[in-house]
Amino acid sequence: MPTETFEFQVEARQLLQMMIHSIYSNKDVFLRELISNASDALDKLRLEALRDEAQGADVSDLHIDIEADQDARTLTVRDNGIGMSHDEVVQLIGTIANSGTATFLRELKEAKDSAATEGLIGQFGVGFYSAFMVADQVTLLTRRAGETHGTRWTSSGEGTYTIETVDEAPQGTTVTLHLKPVDNEDKLYDYASPWKIKEIVKRYSDFITWPIRMATEGPDTATAATEGDEEPPVPREPETLNSMKALWARSRDEVSDDEYHELYKHISHDWHDPLKTVRLQAEGTFEYQALLFIPSQAPHDLFMQGHKRGVQLYVKRVFIMDDCEELMPPYLRFVKGVVDAQDLSLNVSREILQQDRQIQMMHRRLVKKVLSTLKEMMAGEPDQYLTFWREFGRVLKEGLLSDFENRDSILGVCSFASTADPEAPTALKQYVERMKDGQEHIYYVTGESRQSIENSPHMEAFRAKGIEVLLLTDPVDEVWVESVPEFDGRQLRSIVKGEVDLGTEEEKKEAGAEREKRQQEFAELLTWMTGQLDAEVKEVRLSSRLTVSPACVVSDTNDATPALENLYRAMGQDVPRAKRILELNPDHPLVSGLNRAHTEAPDGPGTAEVAELLYGMALLAEGGELKDPSRFITLMADRLERTL
Ligand code: ADP
Repeated sequence: MPTETFEFQVEARQLLQMMIHSIYSNKDVFLRELISNASDALDKLRLEALRDEAQGADVSDLHIDIEADQDARTLTVRDNGIGMSHDEVVQLIGTIANSGTATFLRELKEAKDSAATEGLIGQFGVGFYSAFMVADQVTLLTRRAGETHGTRWTSSGEGTYTIETVDEAPQGTTVTLHLKPVDNEDKLYDYASPWKIKEIVKRYSDFITWPIRMATEGPDTATAATEGDEEPPVPREPETLNSMKALWARSRDEVSDDEYHELYKHISHDWHDPLKTVRLQAEGTFEYQALLFIPSQAPHDLFMQGHKRGVQLYVKRVFIMDDCEELMPPYLRFVKGVVDAQDLSLNVSREILQQDRQIQMMHRRLVKKVLSTLKEMMAGEPDQYLTFWREFGRVLKEGLLSDFENRDSILGVCSFASTADPEAPTALKQYVERMKDGQEHIYYVTGESRQSIENSPHMEAFRAKGIEVLLLTDPVDEVWVESVPEFDGRQLRSIVKGEVDLGTEEEKKEAGAEREKRQQEFAELLTWMTGQLDAEVKEVRLSSRLTVSPACVVSDTNDATPALENLYRAMGQDVPRAKRILELNPDHPLVSGLNRAHTEAPDGPGTAEVAELLYGMALLAEGGELKDPSRFITLMADRLERTL
């Protein structure tokens, strides 16, 4: 069979360049990555065998073998797992499928220093390619279980790789690294040393559920053999390097944090430690163990379609599937981990899982456990919680829309930017504690950025009275606020909707009397303006929320805001525009002036234009769009000209 030469896909080439030039300081992790791949390959083969799909495959002694040859300076990692077909090698090893790759590489280019670069790589994880941190040439010989021919792949990581079909190859995958020279300054240890390999396996891969074997020195031949003895030297004996203990089934004090973290890295392909480890062991009629992790950084594809949820399902220690959707709702898709159920069948399929009542119970319990962990974190480890919120808050908030049963718990662990603090977000509980005398509701405003909403006219009365307002700027905020009526018995109220009535009982009474008077003074103007602007607004009324601005536009209590309407439209739904309400500030000279002019000459020149300009200004002030900007400019220029 001829040898074919292929080029790496562009993204793959860029990643390889980084690996070759070794910007990652902890090079030991390459072995963890190779072992992780080998372990996955063994899991996959066992699963096929369980389903009777592994025709002709040998599943009698599934394991991983490591061979370190100090003379040849090679290190070989072999598994007798599922292997890869010729096309799979090209597909899987020559390209990078991760949907966040492009973003990742762009960020990498922009990364200022090596620490930032390292952080990004750790977050992305580069799997097999990390072999090029320690090797200048890598050969991969593989045969798909059940197939007859094998495939040999070789590369020095520089742009191209070669592939040839071979007649003889053991089942599974053998990766041989031709190691770079030892260089202690560059933290390149002697990876051909069995001692070093043993140490790395123990540290990073101890929990792997398959035996990882390496031939080490046999019994001491020097003392066993007497002088002149002609017996051949005792061959090296394979030793199992890992304990294979399933960490999730052990009690907390038997397992170190480091061990948990390594399991996390194996499952998640993240090179960073997780933010939090969550254990759950359920006993009784339906027994299962769960070990869940909250990562410390969001992956690049968290908001992309097809992002996989990270919980693996095991049945009685046997890996059954990745990404078990039935165990975690989409709004907790960032949670990674393992769930091992004792009473499910090894043959369990997705269809069965969807119906299974026990799985549904596990799902409920796991969700509650994650939420209670977040609650504890919020109370006891505020720094960790803030990291969590920064990375995953947007995702968690999706649960306010989808998980009715846990809505209060979710709301309880949410944080929001607030006028109370320019930096740190606040929990609703803290907001409630800070509420002013006489304040009944929790007030919020949604919008595109903190700056634009913080300075909107709607905020004026709240600022004047020192009433805190939550500033919600995530797109998902527009949506959930519509369906969450209250927190802890207090209504959530948008400051751009309906009427506002602030202050203590006393103040409200006083303001009521004052308003009555104003109402009479302005009644005619308001009726006239409502008629004038009829095409645009449903009502013109006096405002109790303005102190400085002449006017603002608000939505009726039960109507959608323009931003929400836009969001629905972006999702392809045809929603009619709800007419809004124009509110005037009777204390503003422009408004009182207009009232005077209108009373003196109801059809006097210019009043209609001023009414229109007032409406346009109110729209602009909230960052809205004018229907006819050039008409607005003409009217405005005309008015200004008359003042000169
Ligand atoms: P990742 O493991 O993060 O998916 P890798 O670059 O390490 O990325 O591997 C890419 C793919 O190549 C794996 O997902 C797997 O399908 C395949 N692969 C790698 N190593 C092996 C192996 N030892 N046996 C079978 N398939 C493998």
